[in-house]
Amino acid sequence: MKLTIGHLYPDLLDLYSDRGNVMILEKRARWRGIEVEVVRVDAGDATDVRGCDLLMMGGGMDREQSLVARDLQHRRLNVEQAVAEGTVVLAICGGYQLLGEYFETGSGERIPGIGLLDAYTVAGERRMVGNVMAECPLDGPMETIFGYENHSGRTYLREGTDPWMRVVRGGGNNGSDGTEGARKGRVFGTYLHGPLLAKNPRLADWLLGLALERKGTGGGFKSLVDRWEEAAREHLVRRLAELDGME
Ligand code: GLN
Repeated sequence: MKLTIGHLYPDLLDLYSDRGNVMILEKRARWRGIEVEVVRVDAGDATDVRGCDLLMMGGGMDREQSLVARDLQHRRLNVEQAVAEGTVVLAICGGYQLLGEYFETGSGERIPGIGLLDAYTVAGERRMVGNVMAECPLDGPMETIFGYENHSGRTYLREGTDPWMRVVRGGGNNGSDGTEGARKGRVFGTYLHGPLLAKNPRLADWLLGLALERKGTGGGFKSLVDRWEEAAREHLVRRLAELDGME
């Protein structure tokens, strides 16, 4: 069995090393004996993403987003078809904004998205910056998710798109409605850098399971010893508690 991961615009969208998400998925699959191929998809490439089990798109600054947006429009149909055939999409921050209808920047430019998520984003006066703690349903009890956000955009979800997580600490989608990220079927967007999947191994495995469903097998793979990951998470809990005490 081979898992194929498509990494969209690795050069233009890699804020805070979002590429780490691809590395984590690759590693965690390989540690289970699953073969992995990572396909990089750059602007101008004619790659058919329907061959990918999972697509990852990182975040970027407004300028990079404008460059990507133009190319992404040409891929819209192909990405839609891939999703209809079971491909999982994970998009971070700037990438997440581009999955929605549009991102209106602070200078008033409207960067078009591809409308995979029924959501739109408008820049606010103040950037939302800092550590985030959120809660995410993973087919069972809520999982605590850690990440880092830095965005001017405020995202609002329309009907048909659910929030992916609930914010416990931090701004999330817009700093006002307590939502973080969005989910529509197999398409996921979040503001959380980190890289997200390095800090949240159970979320990584959950997404891996979803992507492998396309191969007729889901999760249920052997658990890994996540000693370092868990130590980092415990450290974060302590650090966030300290920060709360200081504020
Ligand atoms: N440029 C976008 C914003 O500021 C996204 C930033 C990011 O990906 N961190 O809202």
